[in-house]
Amino acid sequence: MEIKAAVVFEQSGEFSIEALELSEPNDDEVLVRIVSAGICHTDLVAREMHLPIPPERAMPGVFGHEGAGVVEKVGARVTKVKPGDHVVLAWDYCGTCTSCKAGNVLYCLNFFLHNFHGARPDGTTTLRKGDQVIYGNFFSQSSFANIALANERNVVKVRQDVALEVLAPLGCGVMTGAGAVINALQASAGTSIAVFGVGPVGMSAVLAAVVCGCTTIIAVDVVADRLKKAKEFGATHTINASKVDPVEAIRDMTGGGPNFSLECVGNPAVFRQAVDVLPRLGVCGLLGVVPPGTEVALDMDLIMNGRTVKGILGGDAIADLFIPKLIELYSQGRFPFDGMITFYPFEEINKAVEDMEKGRVIKPVLKM
Ligand SMILES: [Zn+2]
Ligand SMILES: [Zn+2]
Repeated sequence: MEIKAAVVFEQSGEFSIEALELSEPNDDEVLVRIVSAGICHTDLVAREMHLPIPPERAMPGVFGHEGAGVVEKVGARVTKVKPGDHVVLAWDYCGTCTSCKAGNVLYCLNFFLHNFHGARPDGTTTLRKGDQVIYGNFFSQSSFANIALANERNVVKVRQDVALEVLAPLGCGVMTGAGAVINALQASAGTSIAVFGVGPVGMSAVLAAVVCGCTTIIAVDVVADRLKKAKEFGATHTINASKVDPVEAIRDMTGGGPNFSLECVGNPAVFRQAVDVLPRLGVCGLLGVVPPGTEVALDMDLIMNGRTVKGILGGDAIADLFIPKLIELYSQGRFPFDGMITFYPFEEINKAVEDMEKGRVIKPVLKM
């Protein structure tokens, strides 16, 4: 089947929209007509070849892992969805390892094989341009395209009365930030939280903290516009970390430190601040992505005194259960995450990326 996809031909290269040939779905696969796709930081990391995708299967490649669309066709054994269903695409997993069996699918032991393999887990590729193989199956979707091939496992069926184009970022960034607060930290009413870095993930955490009833929600960033947006989203306090020491300021605001902190930047110095700011029994969630091998110095004595540091992937969410909950909150006006979206036509993908990298927009979403 002929499709249109944004291909990166070489490391750090521009996205180039090309006509490609996409394979028909296998028995357990779902063909999705993509309506919109969010751009996530991880797509840009993939373009730089900093992800553990085998280098021989990384380029040329099609990325994109926040797709939303309509099911076009399903494989013979697929029962979860049918043509015409609206779906949000999330992360894939194997479903059979010990993590998956325990319900912790985001921590799948075969995660790389199912998300960062450049091909299906069995090694077969799904995209071609003439005789040239193009690598795909990124997060089992490669949704920077008008049609994408997903697995039954990573399609989340969603209600049809909500505008589909808005829902794309739920599959990664929004699920990650909101899930951290709701599922992983389980922040309860009246608690306090400091969110370091209010990009799309941190901004989703702020919105979720409002949903949970946190009464002190502190947004920390160095971009004034983002802090303003965080305030609109319900942050009770904002701190510009380029102007004041956030640790001191947060301790003052909270009378000794917040119950929870979240590191959403992927920076060792910021992580240190997010841990240092905690009071006894405080919990710091780590969401920021760093290259493997990145080290940080922490005060062991501080941690021994009842503090917790917790790494959180994908908001500890089971997408099939969690994404419909977020959509319900959104439709009730209680989770207005669409306020962080800027839409771009698919053809303007390079401009969208540039605007995101320069901090002009929070969450660019491509309309196919
Ligand atoms: Zn697994
Ligand atoms: Zn992502």
